[in-house]
Amino acid sequence: MAGKRSILIVGGGTAGWLTAAYLAKYLGLSDDGKLEITVLESPEIGIIGVGEGTFPTIRETLQFVGIDEARFIRETSATFKQGIRFDNWVHTPAPGTSSHFIHPFEAPFYTEGTSLVSYWLLQDEKTRPPFAQAMTIQNRVAEAQRAPKRPHEGAFDGPLNYAYHFDAASLARVLAGRARELGVRHLRGLMTGVVLDEKGAIDHVVTQEHGDLTADLYVDCSGFRAELIGKAMGVPFKSIRNQLFTDRAIACKLPYDHPDCPLESYTIAAAHEAGWTWDIGLNGAHGIGCVYSSDHISDDRAAQILSDYTGGKDAGVEVRSIPFEAGYREKQWVKNCVAVGLSGGFLEPLESTGVVLIEAAVGMIAELFPHNGPVDAPARRFNELMTARFDNIANFLKLHYCLSKRDEPFWRDNADPASIPERLQELLEQWKYRPPGRFDFILDLESFAFFNYQYILYGMEFKTDLSPVRDEFPNVKEAEKIFAKIKSFSERATHDLPAHRALIQAINAAA
Ligand SMILES: Cc1cc2nc3c(=O)[nH]c(=O)nc-3n(C[C@H](O)[C@H](O)[C@H](O)COP(=O)(O)OP(=O)(O)OC[C@H]3O[C@@H](n4cnc5c(N)ncnc54)[C@H](O)[C@@H]3O)c2cc1C
Repeated sequence: MAGKRSILIVGGGTAGWLTAAYLAKYLGLSDDGKLEITVLESPEIGIIGVGEGTFPTIRETLQFVGIDEARFIRETSATFKQGIRFDNWVHTPAPGTSSHFIHPFEAPFYTEGTSLVSYWLLQDEKTRPPFAQAMTIQNRVAEAQRAPKRPHEGAFDGPLNYAYHFDAASLARVLAGRARELGVRHLRGLMTGVVLDEKGAIDHVVTQEHGDLTADLYVDCSGFRAELIGKAMGVPFKSIRNQLFTDRAIACKLPYDHPDCPLESYTIAAAHEAGWTWDIGLNGAHGIGCVYSSDHISDDRAAQILSDYTGGKDAGVEVRSIPFEAGYREKQWVKNCVAVGLSGGFLEPLESTGVVLIEAAVGMIAELFPHNGPVDAPARRFNELMTARFDNIANFLKLHYCLSKRDEPFWRDNADPASIPERLQELLEQWKYRPPGRFDFILDLESFAFFNYQYILYGMEFKTDLSPVRDEFPNVKEAEKIFAKIKSFSERATHDLPAHRALIQAINAAA
């Protein structure tokens, strides 16, 4: 590298500040006199500020950038998340009834030699426990409102895999503080224009308060506005609304009935006639939202569904309405402009994949960033990997919808093969005869592993019929012993681990 290199990040939401902190750390900004990273954000425009659930990868990311876990939990009203509970996804519930299954973060118990999944599949459907309950201790621990770790366990560590629920606006603030500590320059101001050079790359951006700003690499973190990648570079948005139908969310925050009431450590995703509601227990309040398809129900009906869910407690509370469209930019890195976060694309928050996609993008930019040479060189690889990730997450999300036997039009439309991606159809056909396995997926292109698919498939009552080859699984006694062991470990863990609420209170009290 001959001269100074500079990265300009436009946008100060989760995407902007996570990109800034991560790159600052990875590229050693504070020790590198030849690198400059700037975040430009417009306080007037503000951030989307939704997004309260995430994925276990966030622990590694926060640790990498140097954020203390306890401080993060205190400053973002965070709680622990051990997975997602899906209510009424399989059947439309009869009045007064409800059913659910859990998608835990912990992988199914693994044994060398005995495929537990196959033995579960061969058990009597009427009497066997739910898949996640049979395969991992986390199901019972989460249902018992226990935490995934004890107070003395180290930061970001614990016996069970976990992520967090957190207040998204506070997360951006915590990341911003850390990024500034790492040497990132922060400019408050409005970008009013983008000037391209004769080759179509960004020459400079124009701001109201700071004049023209130039950089070697421009990172578009401007959210749904996609100021650089969309408006300036003209990269088209590829909608996949023909697969994922939801396009709106309404969201509010409600206090708990009682400050000491038990605290769930999973997101509750409850299916309704045209989508689902989320219910996320933060420290101090619930984040509640209703995600729906405007082709299937009206905004008024969605408001009624939210109100029914809260038992009318949302009356008089600020309810935000957020329109969105499922899809992404097929090219997310073009010349010297790369998109991270909502500017690159968005898939509904059913499996909390917004921040995961930011982490994936930023990790790739960090590794592909050329310390020397042209910044657009890694673009092709980045685009291949990111678009594959979006497509694969879309497949995983669609799996939740297309297996449902609910009878409302939204759900029947979701089961229409014309709306199911070909790759998913192929896999579903294979999984009639064998469970999902690791060779179904290429790790670097995925956010979800084969066992995540197993949890959803079998939670949704998908049938993998191994009965014609039952003889190939003779170790029934051995498998039963392991299932019994998982059950007794679950009971012990439920006893040994603290109540989730108690752990959160202890962490906050230690401030
Ligand atoms: C309904 C909903 C629920 C979600 N739930 C989850 C979830 O549970 N888990 C999860 O991981 N993700 C979730 N997400 C996604 C998550 O919210 C986003 O991925 C995340 O917040 C990143 O947003 P962002 O930083 O890309 O955009 P934003 O937060 O919108 O930030 C954009 C930034 O760009 C700035 N900006 C824009 N234009 C200009 C300009 N001209 N000049 C200067 N600055 C500008 C703004 O000021 C702002 O700072 C959800 C999203 C939605 C819509």
